[in-house]
Amino acid sequence: MKMIYKPQEYRIKDERMKPFIDESEIWEILDTAQPTKENVRAVIQKSLAKNRLSMQETALLLKTEDPELIEEIKAGARTLKEKVYGDRIVIFAPLYVGNKCVNNCTYCGFRASNKKQKRTTLNEVQLRSEVKSLEDNGQKRLILVYGEHPMYDAEFIADSVRTVYSVKSGSGEIRRVNINAAPLDIEGFEKVKEAAIGTYQIFQETYHREAYAKYHLSGQKSDFDWRLTGLDRAQEALIDDVGIGALFGLYDWKYEVLGLLRHVNHFEACYNVGPHTISFPRIKAASDSTIDPAYEVSDDDFIRLVAILRLAVPYTGLILTARETKELREEVIKLGVSQIDAGTNIQLGGYSEKNHEEQKLDHEQFEIGDTRSLGEVIDELLDKQYLPSFCTACYRKGRTGEHFMEFSVPGFIKRFCTQNAILTLAEYLEDYATPNQKEKGYKLIDIKIEELNKKDSLKVAPLLERLEKVKAGERD
Ligand code: SAM
Ligand code: SF4
Repeated sequence: MKMIYKPQEYRIKDERMKPFIDESEIWEILDTAQPTKENVRAVIQKSLAKNRLSMQETALLLKTEDPELIEEIKAGARTLKEKVYGDRIVIFAPLYVGNKCVNNCTYCGFRASNKKQKRTTLNEVQLRSEVKSLEDNGQKRLILVYGEHPMYDAEFIADSVRTVYSVKSGSGEIRRVNINAAPLDIEGFEKVKEAAIGTYQIFQETYHREAYAKYHLSGQKSDFDWRLTGLDRAQEALIDDVGIGALFGLYDWKYEVLGLLRHVNHFEACYNVGPHTISFPRIKAASDSTIDPAYEVSDDDFIRLVAILRLAVPYTGLILTARETKELREEVIKLGVSQIDAGTNIQLGGYSEKNHEEQKLDHEQFEIGDTRSLGEVIDELLDKQYLPSFCTACYRKGRTGEHFMEFSVPGFIKRFCTQNAILTLAEYLEDYATPNQKEKGYKLIDIKIEELNKKDSLKVAPLLERLEKVKAGERD
């Protein structure tokens, strides 16, 4: 289902599949932004009324240095999260399928010139074993990750997606498979779509051409425009759930936030639908790699940038990964993150080895900051009264753009999301939780049902009925 957005300022300028980033335009917007108490507060209010911000308005937030106003921006993001997304946090896990790579991205442990990296491509048996381990843990949503290599063509990616869906163990099954891989041509995207993928994610890394050239030394990925227009080709292949991202630490973070926003504008202008998710990875240590610290993003700035992104695009899902530490994740989740990975292990074959503690940089892409198990993350979310969700109902019912729907369709969250989150949490509690966690989880479910009851008592009876079915062993 495609939703209609108000035309943005770029409708006339953009043509599909044409590069659309103009560095001087972004710098001019940043250079001319003059934040005052009045205009910054007005922009926050505009966002709290669930309106998309323009690049000029977002630049006012980015240029704000007054500590009091920065606190107001963060408070605005927290309020917006509560208003739009409630306390659900969608859980997923990354699964690395192969780390061969022909590109040379200087920040990445998988780059072709890194002879220290142990190269592995999971064969079908190994892939099945990884998926089984993930299912045995309670995971329902995966993102498959690949290096860029002729071996990992569209057919290979589609085959691995089909393999993942086919693994069923006990009550476990993977219900949504997303992809993080190199951009394909339109035909390739069509092949991958046929395998019923969820979201196709491609991060631009940096929206600044010159900086991009400095970090992407060779291989197909060194072509800035091929990368930039990758998700347009996905759209042409009718993959309308796409995820964008920038790798923070390569170039000026304020510039990158506007680059991301410009990318959102482009999608809205050309396809009438924004990206499904935005990711904002920060550079982490990687095997045999050193990064110029000139653009390093501090924790404080990272927190600010997530808050600003939340306000700028109120309807888009924000993904926070285990690259960040437990402590920072706790802080940033409050500001409007809607999805996190949990129980993450990015070593090739790492889930079957059940090796969560020890990280070996020569066997993985970069160092992660949060190595907790899925159970530990769920425990903490429950303690903080978040509702961990393994929900895939929208996708399974053909409702694409789930985050946009949550935001835009009145009552959607109450009608679908909260209920599906409760039911998928109950499935997890029944099938995977410890007795203590089960008790805690059902207590939270009772609280959430009581809240629903106050808002819309008619919805509660059918929900309780479905909950009883879950307890009796019925699964989605
Ligand atoms: N090879 C494909 C590509 O480059 O698009 C697939 C994804 S790559 C394995 C996943 C993402 O990891 C990259 O897009 C990049 O943003 C991020 N990444 C690479 N090196 C990193 C590092 N040292 N720290 C944090 N993130 C990193
Ligand atoms: Fe290869 Fe992706 Fe790493 Fe670049 S970021 S070296 S393309 S795996």
